[in-house]
Parts: sequence; C-alpha cells; structure tokens
Amino acid sequence: MWVQSKTCALCGEAIKVYEDSSVDHIIPVSRGGKDTESNVQITHVWCNNQKGDLLPWQDKIFRFLNKHFFKIRKGKINK
Ligand SMILES: [Zn+2]
Repeated sequence: MWVQSKTCALCGEAIKVYEDSSVDHIIPVSRGGKDTESNVQITHVWCNNQKGDLLPWQDKIFRFLNKHFFKIRKGKINK
C-alpha cells in the first residue's frame, strides 16, 4: 500500500501517486548492476524513462547539456 509520499531520486520532486512511481536501478542491470536493495531507488516513471540505461554521472551530464541547449535556443544566439 502507498502510505507516505516519496521523493524521486532523479528530480527531487515528490511522488504523489503510486502509478507515477518506478523502481530505477542506480547502476543499470544491463551494465552489470545488481538487483539488490542498495542498487535501487524510487523515481517517477518519466524520470526513469528519460534516464534509460545511463549511469548516474552520465545522466547528470545529459541533463546539464539539455538545459544548456535549451538556453541557447531561447537566447539571442543565432546561426
Ligand atoms: Zn522525478
């Protein structure tokens, strides 16, 4: 049963309903991560999907670049 609200390990926002939650492997199983309690974290379904099978540090870089390119697109930089 879903009693308390949890926090997404990837974006830090609260996960309010059970249907939005997903179990993410910190080190993806496809990269040799183990299916143990210390290697799993609760995240939003969409955050987990976006992460795919990236490692945590790769995910951070990916997010940083995304933000950076978004700023460029919105800014005054033209080709
Ligand atoms: Zn999230």
